[in-house]
Amino acid sequence: MRCRRCGDKAVLKIPRHNTAVCVACLNHYVLEQVKRAIHDHKMFDPGDRILVAVSGGKDSLSLWDVLMRLGYETAGLHIQQGIGHYSEESHRKTAAFARSRAVELIVHSLQEEEGAGVLELAELTNRSACSACGVMKRYNFNRIAHDRGFDVLATGHNLDDEASRLLGNILRWQEDYLAKQAPALSATHEKLVKKVKPLYRLAEREITAYAVVNSIDYVIEECPMSVGSKMLVNKEVLNRLEADAPGTKHAFYFGFLERQKAEDLSGADEKIQSCARCGQPTTAAVCSYCRILEKVKTAP
Ligand code: AMP
Ligand code: ZN
Repeated sequence: MRCRRCGDKAVLKIPRHNTAVCVACLNHYVLEQVKRAIHDHKMFDPGDRILVAVSGGKDSLSLWDVLMRLGYETAGLHIQQGIGHYSEESHRKTAAFARSRAVELIVHSLQEEEGAGVLELAELTNRSACSACGVMKRYNFNRIAHDRGFDVLATGHNLDDEASRLLGNILRWQEDYLAKQAPALSATHEKLVKKVKPLYRLAEREITAYAVVNSIDYVIEECPMSVGSKMLVNKEVLNRLEADAPGTKHAFYFGFLERQKAEDLSGADEKIQSCARCGQPTTAAVCSYCRILEKVKTAP
């Protein structure tokens, strides 16, 4: 198999673009897709300070790597969830990556800051671990980015993540979620920081290949709490469709973005207010984070 761009030995086939790439052209391809994402959705400008949420997985570490290569000023933020070996390994690999590139990494431990890890928070509040984890991550991503003066928060969500989330939202017609599913969400409250997903144009296997050829040491293990989740089932279904007809995922998600743009489903009219307890942005009177923490404080 030869690279369609330069004729060298190809390392990855990209059926949806009917092409194959060598190591150098894979890097070029990934950087170009990220540049295009940043440009098309006006994610940030050269002088902006970007906080990259890094889990230790291939997507977020690759994202951080790409943004540094493109010359952006970045720092990483890792939330330690306290899920045993998985969380320890995630923290270790994230810290090693930051050290190897001499960049700042902010580490926020739920156990130390909130007084309980994800599993305990879930149990105290009768939520699923993923729901409690989601609230803790979103809240801390935003608060830390805002308090430390970052212009934007970037996550490693890729095309597979976005397509499977879209499928899940459509299957249950969660229109309010559909409105908020976008590669860039602007700050609609003085304490909200803009959120962006610069990898949304890239498929999971393309990012895995990028991480491998660039020797990025990432956590391979999936979060043990995600086993059997709807998100993973949706991904499997989309992978089957993709194998049968390459380009299906791309057409599905990009078709949605076109329709969203045409109908302005950007969620800009959602009413954001300040939480009565902590002052952080929320759509309810008291935010989910404060409601969870209330349970931690009153726990026997
Ligand atoms: P996930 O929901 O696990 O697929 O993660 C989606 C994105 O959220 C990742 O690409 C990261 O940017 C971010 N993320 C997930 N877990 C963490 C974590 N523990 N700390 C910091 N960022 C995270
Ligand atoms: Zn609050």
